[in-house]
Amino acid sequence: MKALIIGAGIGGMSAAAALKQQGIECDIFEAVKEIKPVGAALSIWSNGVKCMNHLGMGSIIDELGGPMHNMAYHDGITGSVMTQFSLAPLVDAVGERPCPVSRADLQSQMVDWWGRDKIQFGKRIEKVEQSDIGVTAYFTDGSSATGDFMIAADGTHSAVRADVIGYQTERRYADYVNWNGLVEIDESIAPADQWTTFVGEGKRVSIMPIAAGRFYFFFDVPLPKGLAEDRSTVVADLTGYFTGWAEPVQKLIAAINPETTNRIEIHDIEPFDTLVKGNIALLGDAAHSTTPDIGQGGCSALEDAVVLGQCFADQFKEKGKTVSGVLAALKQYEEERRFRVKDLVLKARKRCDVTHGKDMQETQAWYDELRHETGENIIAGLRATIVSGPLA
Ligand code: FAD
Repeated sequence: MKALIIGAGIGGMSAAAALKQQGIECDIFEAVKEIKPVGAALSIWSNGVKCMNHLGMGSIIDELGGPMHNMAYHDGITGSVMTQFSLAPLVDAVGERPCPVSRADLQSQMVDWWGRDKIQFGKRIEKVEQSDIGVTAYFTDGSSATGDFMIAADGTHSAVRADVIGYQTERRYADYVNWNGLVEIDESIAPADQWTTFVGEGKRVSIMPIAAGRFYFFFDVPLPKGLAEDRSTVVADLTGYFTGWAEPVQKLIAAINPETTNRIEIHDIEPFDTLVKGNIALLGDAAHSTTPDIGQGGCSALEDAVVLGQCFADQFKEKGKTVSGVLAALKQYEEERRFRVKDLVLKARKRCDVTHGKDMQETQAWYDELRHETGENIIAGLRATIVSGPLA
């Protein structure tokens, strides 16, 4: 029984880990020769941490996770605290902590956990063929590979998605630009154990601690698509967009390294119901591409992998390691994931619009709410998202 896994991102690596737990051999194919992550870091929320533990990769999170114990919102202009609270009630309620991690380190350690030399790099899939008994992947270098089934975890620009869902999807611009990177922790910018966010004018500046004394930072600014901005103009661009903002924001802009700061126009994809066609399944961003506004894209890829493994366990118990067992497992995976992932994409989209001033009155109402927030409502929202995952 062999799976072809396309993509060695969080989705592909976690899918391979889940299938290995079910005794399935996996061949992993990755398009690039060297993985260069698009963002500096990720918040792996408690649902994602539980998945990493379940998949046997919990030690990676233990090593990379930052000490994010508190949360605060500040008025971006005056710098005054709008709300500040401990995340301990969340951790108590869901039974696991959230962990911001360096994305490059996470991906690199997941690859090393599997065995870097067992992954086939430089293999970009361009075509797939399926039959009743298996699946064949054709790569741009002219080579091909066959397996019993395929997990396409080839990201938001998936080359396999259209074959599975029957049409080409368009990515939807979310109307804002995100700059992100890492800086050394400086407590005059924000406390070293807190997720701190400055908000105002539909913009936001966020800072989270990751391991090894570093802050993950990001700036969001609502902007049209396609502006001529890049790394060479990043400090001037941010200085302009955040003129008049509080001192910690100015300090952060002064501290960033333009060479390692990413500028990303944020997109998502309208959710779809089909995640599986016969013996091919989409997983991770290939299956559900979300804005990062609730920090659940990578976490939901981890959830996909856990559920995938559970479906194979169920179906192999009933049908044995057979073709019909594989087809039933993939169908069950689709059934168990499609509503959850659609919900996450739409939830993130809603959060995105409020945060980024799509309707400034609504955004202002949210700022007013934050000034009366004790932490209870925010924790209830985070908790609801987390406990709807597979390992609640
Ligand atoms: P990817 O990470 O895109 O990996 C896909 C892999 O497939 C890549 O290595 C790629 O090279 C390879 N590939 C692509 N095409 C082919 C092909 N044709 N053949 C073979 N291989 C191919 N998520 C969170 O959980 N928490 C966060 O805080 C968070 N913050 C984010 C911040 C930003 C700015 C962004 C943009 C995203 C954020 N996300 C976050 C989302 C998260 O990054 C993604 O959901 C996650 O990386 C998806 O993993 P994946 O493996 O499905 O896709």
